[in-house]
Amino acid sequence: MQEIHHYIDGSEVKGTSGRFSDVYNPATGEVQAKVSLATKAELDAAVEKAAAAQVAWGATNPQRRARVMMKFAALINENMDKLAETLSREHGKTLPDARGDVQRGLEVVEVCIGAPAMLKGEYMNDGGPGIDLYSMRQALGVVAGITPFNFPAMIPLWKMAPALVCGNAMILKPSERCPTTSLMLAELLKEAGLPDGVLQVVNGDKEVVDAILDNDTIQAVGFVGSTPIAQYIYGRAATNGKRAQCFGGAKNHMIIMPDADMDKAADALVGAGFGAAGERCMAISVAVPVGDKTADALIERLVPRIEALKVGPYTAGDDVDFGPVITAQARDRINGLVNSGVDQGANLVVDGRDFNLQGYENGFFVGPSLFDNVTPDMDIYKEEIFGPVLSQVRAQSYDEALDLIMKNNYGNGTSIYTADGDTARDFAAKVNVGMVGINFPIPVPLSYFTFGGWKKSAFGDLNQYGPDAFRFYTKTKTVTARWFSGIKDGGEFAFKAMD
Ligand code: NAD
Repeated sequence: MQEIHHYIDGSEVKGTSGRFSDVYNPATGEVQAKVSLATKAELDAAVEKAAAAQVAWGATNPQRRARVMMKFAALINENMDKLAETLSREHGKTLPDARGDVQRGLEVVEVCIGAPAMLKGEYMNDGGPGIDLYSMRQALGVVAGITPFNFPAMIPLWKMAPALVCGNAMILKPSERCPTTSLMLAELLKEAGLPDGVLQVVNGDKEVVDAILDNDTIQAVGFVGSTPIAQYIYGRAATNGKRAQCFGGAKNHMIIMPDADMDKAADALVGAGFGAAGERCMAISVAVPVGDKTADALIERLVPRIEALKVGPYTAGDDVDFGPVITAQARDRINGLVNSGVDQGANLVVDGRDFNLQGYENGFFVGPSLFDNVTPDMDIYKEEIFGPVLSQVRAQSYDEALDLIMKNNYGNGTSIYTADGDTARDFAAKVNVGMVGINFPIPVPLSYFTFGGWKKSAFGDLNQYGPDAFRFYTKTKTVTARWFSGIKDGGEFAFKAMD
C-alpha cells in the first residue's frame, strides 16, 4: 500500500504519528494509498523550520520572488497532464475538468508574477511641514492554508501563490482525501527556486488543524471548506489573535426569467448543476424559473439533457460528463437527501438513485437527479447537497425569486438568465450574494478580481486572490518621518494636527 507523507524542508518526510487516513480511487472504490496524519508536535516542528526559512525569503526582493512564480507557472503548464491525472485519480472528476482545476489555480500564479506592483505601498511627501508619510506592506511571517477536497489544485494554488510571493512561509494542510496534488505542486515550487522550508505541506485531520489554530507563530489562516468548519476555524483563529479568512459552503440559485433564451438556460443549468458531480461551491443547485410557463418549458428542456448525461470514470475518455462523488459516505448522504425530497413531497422528475455502472459496481457513482416543485422548508432546499441533484423552486414573480435568494443562509454565487438589461441590473445591484452571473452560470471571477461569498459562505473581510490576497497576506506599517535641519526645537507633548 502506497504511503503519502509530508513535505518538509524541501523533501518528503515520513509521518511519525502512526495514524493514517485512506485515500480512495472514487471510480473503483479501492483504497489506493494511505496518508499520514500529523501530530501537534510534527506541526510545531514544521512551523519552527518555516519561521527560520521565512527570514531570508521575506528579505528577498519582490522581483526575485516573482521570478519563482514565473518559473512555477511554466512548470505547472509543463506538468498539466500529470497534475490533472493525479487529481482525477484521487478526486474522480473528468480529465478536462481536472485540467480546468489546475488552470484556474495557474491563473492566480500568473497574477502573482506582478506582485511587486501590488506590494509598493503608499507615499505622501509634505504631509506636514517637512513631514513625509509612507506605508509599507510587509510579510506576516508564517501563515497557514487549509483546503477542501473538491479543487485539489486550484484552491491550494489560491492559497500558496499569493502568500509566498508576499514573502511569507506557508504551512499547507490539504484535504486528507486528495493530498497528492499539493505535494506535486510543492516539488514544482522547489524546482522553480523556492527555498526549502518556505512551503511545508503537512497532511492531517482535525488534530493538525487544531494545532495550526493554536500555534502562536502562525499569523494567519486561510481556510476553504464546509460552513460549520469554516465558522469553527474563524472563531478559534480569531480567539488566538490570528487573521482569518474562512470560505464555506453554498446553495447557489439561478433565476430564469420568462424572456430568457430557454435552451441556453437549460444548457447552463445542466453544466453548472451536474459538472464535477455537483461537488463545486459554485455549482447551481437551485433553478428558480419565474412563472409556471417558464418552469414547464425549462423542465421540458432539462429532462432529455439530464437523461443524456454520461456518468463514468475519468479513464473512460473526454465524453464523460461527470465522475463519481468523493466517498461512499458522500454517495449515501446524497441518496438519503434525494429520498427525503421524495418523502417531503417534491416531484422527482429524473431519478439518479440506484445508478449502476458495469465494471465499476464498487465506485462511488450517483446518477443525476432533477426535482420540481421544491419548497424552502424541504431538506433538499435547506442543505448543501454537494452532489448531482438539481432542485427547481417555482416563483410567480421576479420579486418572489429575488426574495428567495435574499433569505437563503448562503451567499456564494448566483445567476440570472434574462434578455432584459434592466432586470439584470436590478438583480446585480440588490442581491446579497458575493458573485453574480448575468446569462453566465458559474461566475467565478477571473484571477485579477477577487473570489468570495457573503452570509454563511464566508467568514472574514477579505476575499481570495486578486488585490485582496495581497492585503490579507501582508500587514501595513506606516512611517511618519521628519528630518530636522540640525536645529533641535525641543519635544512636543500634545497630540495635535500637523500644522
Ligand atoms: P470540509 O469542511 O470537510 O474540509 C475542509 C478542510 O477542513 C479539510 O482540510 C479537512 O481536513 C478540514 N476539516 C474537516 N473537518 C474538520 C474539523 N472537524 N476540524 C478541523 N478541520 C476539519 O470540506 P470538504 O468536504 O473537504 O469540501 C467541501 C466543502 O467545501 C463544501 O461545503 C463546499 O461548498 C466548500 N467549498 C467552498 C469554497 C468556497 O470558496 N466558498 C470552495 C470550495 C469548496
